Amino acid sequence: MNPGRMMDYPLTLTHLLERARRYFPRTEIVSRYPDGWLHRQTWADTYARAGRLAHALRRLGVGPGDRVATLAWNHHRHLEAYFGIPMMGAVLHTLNLRLHANELTYIARHAEDSIVLCDRSLLPQLEAFVGNVPSVRHIVVMADDGPTPAGKLDYEALLAAESPDYSWPTLDERSACAICYTSGTTGNPKGVIYTHRSNVLHALFTSLPDAVPVSQRDTLLPVVPMFHANAWGYPHMAANAGARLVFPGPKLDPESLLDLMERERVTRSAGVPTVWLGVLALLDANPKKWDLSSVREMIVGGAAAPPALIEGLGRHGLTVTQAWGMTETNPLGTIARPKADMDGSSDAERLAVRATQGFAVPFVETRHTGEDGDVLPWDGERMGELEVRGPFVASSYVGDEGKDRWTADGWFRTGDVVTIDAGGYVRICDRSKDVIKSGGEWISSVALENALMGHASVLEAAVFAGRHPKWDERPIAAVVLRKGAAATEADLAKHLEGKFAKFWMPDAYVFVEQIPRTSTGKFLKSKLRELYAGMLTK
Ligand code: ADP
Repeated sequence: MNPGRMMDYPLTLTHLLERARRYFPRTEIVSRYPDGWLHRQTWADTYARAGRLAHALRRLGVGPGDRVATLAWNHHRHLEAYFGIPMMGAVLHTLNLRLHANELTYIARHAEDSIVLCDRSLLPQLEAFVGNVPSVRHIVVMADDGPTPAGKLDYEALLAAESPDYSWPTLDERSACAICYTSGTTGNPKGVIYTHRSNVLHALFTSLPDAVPVSQRDTLLPVVPMFHANAWGYPHMAANAGARLVFPGPKLDPESLLDLMERERVTRSAGVPTVWLGVLALLDANPKKWDLSSVREMIVGGAAAPPALIEGLGRHGLTVTQAWGMTETNPLGTIARPKADMDGSSDAERLAVRATQGFAVPFVETRHTGEDGDVLPWDGERMGELEVRGPFVASSYVGDEGKDRWTADGWFRTGDVVTIDAGGYVRICDRSKDVIKSGGEWISSVALENALMGHASVLEAAVFAGRHPKWDERPIAAVVLRKGAAATEADLAKHLEGKFAKFWMPDAYVFVEQIPRTSTGKFLKSKLRELYAGMLTK
């Protein structure tokens, strides 16, 4: 007897773009070019251009599984690559344009990229390394700030010569669709391969109302770069829902972003804390300049969001919600939403919850383990390494590198030191490579930074380990003061007093112009340690 069962319908990106084209053909994709001009096309155009791109790439010799790289800002052509490349069965490899030529050489060689689609404005970056990558057969120029130089393949000319109708193959949902490298702050960068299935499941679970809700009524502005972990899934979520997309191109300064949000009536946006800290500072200086009444929520992630940021944007009527994720988790893992049973709670209580990294979205499991590998209780106190698993968590790196990042029972070790409370809320205390261990006890640099950034004169603060003759390590705070503001070491120490155990208090403060950052906008504490770790003598 036939037992009866559901269809084995593959979860592929093809369905997402076909759905957007079929049901939302006129919904717009807006892209700001470097000169400020706003380019507009629709989901129907995007579908047709993805078809032309697939034909053009096939003509250039791209076959199933081949890696096609992009070196590009956020714009409609990058979106076409996001879909056209995986839908033809090839693999999209987004190169991080902020990396050094040596790192890009390593990554492009490791991924064996065959073709690079490159913004004209980024050709100098490409030319600094591409000669050392023998697998690259063609460079295709996306002319954003002027015409394609003679002798080079031009993206628009290639597309114009092709038909928009491509007969998309039926793909195995478990086949690779994209590859992204982690920053590799320790050791070489590691490649993470996303599958059609992982990207689709991520888009579905991430779009739920308690995660990052996305509807066909939304206008999304992903400030997060498209080379950073799938642009946090926004291109996929937008196609799935039929949402409108606004791409900022290379201009990511607060003023340009606020202008774009106002002009295009953006409803939802996402970026790292630095982006929103800049926006907050500008709004504080010009509170009435922009009409942001369309904005429903901004997501902040990639690094800890200080409560002062969440509160500060709240004063301007803006809601910023913190999420945690990694390249290895597609990326969304947890998001900080107060639960319904907190509805009667005070603003301060809600802020305390919103300042955590939140609890897991469906199909992500979290746990944390102590130094002996024991799974720790969810008591909000015991610190341990966060481990995750789920259908959109990587199960290995390209080439089986970094195998020690997975436990024997198949969980991914995140390298984040956290507490988890009874409600499942994860709180990041540090990245394991940045932890401060004083006399055998962990001190949470993130907690100290958050408190310091609550001081009216402090724009940014990063707390890192200084070497200490007696305690091994002691905290040092690097502080950037707001323009025109003043604060002494004693003022800052006084501000922290009573908020933490005495042994958590920084031993020293250094006042700096800016905090060094990684290519994805995080505090680069290894640099701070290199510069200042030796300054403590007693
Ligand atoms: P990179 O190694 O380039 O920083 P990822 O973007 O994958 O690559 O970084 C993931 C890491 O970013 C996490 O392991 C965590 O340390 C940090 N992170 C992400 N979101 C948050 C957040 N909301 N709060 C604190 N740290 C975060």
